[in-house]
Amino acid sequence: MKIKLGLLYGGKSAEHEVSLLTARAVSQAINFDKYEVYPIFITKTGEWRKGNALIGPAETVQMLQFGERESKPNNIISFLPEEVSANSAMETKTDSNLDVIFPLLHGPNGEDGTVQGLLEVLNLPYVGNGVLASAAGMDKVVMKQLFAQAGLSQVPYVHFIRKEWKNNQAALLKKMEENLKWPLFVKPANLGSSVGITKATNREELLKAVEFAFKYDRKIIVEQGIVARELEMSVLGNDAPRCSVAGEVLPTKDFYDYEAKYEDGTTNYAIPANVSTELLKKMEDAAIRAFKVLDCSGLVRADFFVTENEEVLINEVNTMPGFTPISMYPKLWIESGLSYSDLIEELITLALERYEEKQ
Ligand code: ADP
Ligand code: MG
Ligand code: MG
Repeated sequence: MKIKLGLLYGGKSAEHEVSLLTARAVSQAINFDKYEVYPIFITKTGEWRKGNALIGPAETVQMLQFGERESKPNNIISFLPEEVSANSAMETKTDSNLDVIFPLLHGPNGEDGTVQGLLEVLNLPYVGNGVLASAAGMDKVVMKQLFAQAGLSQVPYVHFIRKEWKNNQAALLKKMEENLKWPLFVKPANLGSSVGITKATNREELLKAVEFAFKYDRKIIVEQGIVARELEMSVLGNDAPRCSVAGEVLPTKDFYDYEAKYEDGTTNYAIPANVSTELLKKMEDAAIRAFKVLDCSGLVRADFFVTENEEVLINEVNTMPGFTPISMYPKLWIESGLSYSDLIEELITLALERYEEKQ
């Protein structure tokens, strides 16, 4: 009997298109002798659609048409997904009795514990982090408070919600200017892909940056800017996680912003990064501690700032990191000797093991 694998992709977030690319790559890398693949697509407006089982990698092109259909309603070619109701996830389960779901979604509503909660309620095993780790990893303030608890070094920061900013702006500005050194990085607490983030070098820019970040969230974090290398490490496992080699992000512009990540090709990467054994050990230790303090499972990409004298500061973990074959997370594993297909296989196995353990 083949394992019925649901690929959940698309979604309402800004990373919808990235998710489509990931879905295509994953479905082409899957071992069809072992898995039967069911596409479950979430449109940009949040509607759920499901298709028939895919029986081979060639069909993934049609699967993408399935993804594009929402923008081309009159161009339904051969792969007509059934339109389903709000309870579609439930129907999908009962129709086809899926064995495991691979959520290939990023950002709010995908990576933040909400979809994970739905899958828990449906009693379906799923790849990656659970509700708690996903939610804690999406909120940069909560994440940093937990990191501090685990004894991890970080840049100094100040955080506040909209109401506090409205009522105590002068006091908050004073707090920031007294405790943090310029430049400052202003971020919405709950986002990713650098969306809403601005570097501010003076008070005027800071005020604008705060207003901008409030467009995305009611909670904001303002960090002291640091001049450092940006090094990343992939972590894989459940109770006994292991680390990949390290990779380095080498932005050629001011910082690793949205365009640099996805659009303008200005960023270079070093895989593996040029790091000493000692530094690698420090990063591994910090990555595992971060994984454990958030109670992660499956996968996490741990991102660090490393200063000139090799002090390792954790920046964040991403609980559903970019997952196309050219993304950092899989590339670090490929460099460590684990192929993209084997990585997918291992993640599915970890999902099933975690589910079994909970029963
Ligand atoms: P996201 O979750 O959106 O990726 P990050 O906190 O990783 O948000 O910030 C995005 C990028 O902004 C980082 O990769 C880095 O280039 C830059 N950056 C963020 N915070 C700082 C900081 N405190 N000092 C220097 N650069 C920073
Ligand atoms: Mg992030
Ligand atoms: Mg980041």
